[in-house]
Amino acid sequence: MARKPLMAGNWKMNKTIPEAVAMVKELKGKIADVKDVDVLICPTFTAIAALANEAKGSNINIGAQDIFWEAKGAFTGEIAPNMLVDAGCTYVIIGHSERRQYFGETNETVNKKVKAALANGLIPVVCVGETLKEREDDVTFKVIESQIREGLKDLSKEDAAKIVIAYEPVWAIGTGKTATPDQAQEVHAFARKVYGEMYGDACQQVRILYGGSVKPDNVKELMKKEDIDGGLVGGASLKADSFEALVKFNN
Ligand code: PEP
Repeated sequence: MARKPLMAGNWKMNKTIPEAVAMVKELKGKIADVKDVDVLICPTFTAIAALANEAKGSNINIGAQDIFWEAKGAFTGEIAPNMLVDAGCTYVIIGHSERRQYFGETNETVNKKVKAALANGLIPVVCVGETLKEREDDVTFKVIESQIREGLKDLSKEDAAKIVIAYEPVWAIGTGKTATPDQAQEVHAFARKVYGEMYGDACQQVRILYGGSVKPDNVKELMKKEDIDGGLVGGASLKADSFEALVKFNN
């Protein structure tokens, strides 16, 4: 089954509102003719509404970098799913390794967030990935399997097909060390197999992105792999030229 590639930029804690708007303004002109790739930018919360406004009518989707599972109430500092929709998001990154590492995200909280996102019509981009120690200890598959089985449990088959999984080996994020296309493909195929055991055919529809130092000069080789359906990109998504090159990996 042909899956439409998705190129997603995770801007992390970078760019003020004017900087974010300026980049989307520049990017939308550069990629206006791209139809065969879905494009997503995930800025900081504060820039979401302005970017959604700037991206209106273009092929750029806007997403958040996190979400909370409750609908409203006394949860100081958190953002509810319908607030993200209200601000113009259609996607949301959930369970990024930086949130797991620094902010106590677990497979259990990931699962609650995934369900809350789906219930509000948002497409979750759910991050999984092993640390360097886990890779060296030879437990990569075990870690990925539990992140998928626990973080993505109890979804309807329809929702299971809609979500996006991002395989991001922690040792490759922001380090300049990319997994080789073969290393990435091996984990992607494994993730799809586990997902198939959970949700049958939905595993052929779910898009699995690779993330970890994706750059214009390595994207083509990664994207040639059967089970790699796009990229979740930090550093190289921050400049319009390099993100354009990633979106146009096929050219
Ligand atoms: C990320 O932010 O998810 C990421 C993969 O970052 P980078 O591309 O900079 O490694």
